[in-house]
Order: sequence, then C-alpha cells, then structure tokens
Amino acid sequence: MHEMALMAGVFDIIRQYTTDLSDKNVTRVTLVVGEMTNAVPEALEAAFEVHAKGTPVEGAKLVIKDIPLVARCRSCGWEGKTEKHVFMCPGCSSFGMELISGRELYVESLEVE
Ligand SMILES: [Zn+2]
Repeated sequence: MHEMALMAGVFDIIRQYTTDLSDKNVTRVTLVVGEMTNAVPEALEAAFEVHAKGTPVEGAKLVIKDIPLVARCRSCGWEGKTEKHVFMCPGCSSFGMELISGRELYVESLEVE
C-alpha cells in the first residue's frame, strides 16, 4: 500500500518534532496532501493508526488538507486546476505546462497536550 510508505515518511518528521516531548501526547496532526501523491484519505488514516500505535501520536486526530493540482502554461500564461495527467493547456493547446501545486506532502501542524 502506497500510503504506508508515505506515512512512514510523515512519521519520520513527527518523530523529530516529538523527541523532546516524552511526557506529552500529540492530539492532532494536520497533513497537507497534494492530489499528485494519489493518496487515498481512508488509506492514509489507516496507515496513520498503524504508525501511531505505541507512540505519543496514538489516539491523535488526523486532519487532511487536500491540495488540488494546479498548472501554469509556459506559452500563454494560463493557470488553473487541471486533471491528473492532462497537461495540455486549455488556452492554447500547448503541452508546456508546469505544475504549481499538487505534489505536496508535509506536516503542517502538530497539536500537543
Ligand atoms: Zn497556454
């Protein structure tokens, strides 16, 4: 499962934040997830629970912020939300599109109690 690998990376980051918080618990984790990661929220949640077990993160609420895929055309400057794997510009039909957002996968915030 793709999401297990993604979540392993997320927990590497969480561990760096929580090493000094041995007597505290994480109550909430906000994760920013771009559409290009192809991560399924339910699978992310399941992976989150597996990784959280036995750590200060166990029982924390996972909040997922979806970031849509947004591209910009290098030829005409068109910019907007685009479908996965469709990189033809709706403005000028050029294929010179660059991705502005949608690849994100990071921890935006942790709430600790
Ligand atoms: Zn264009």
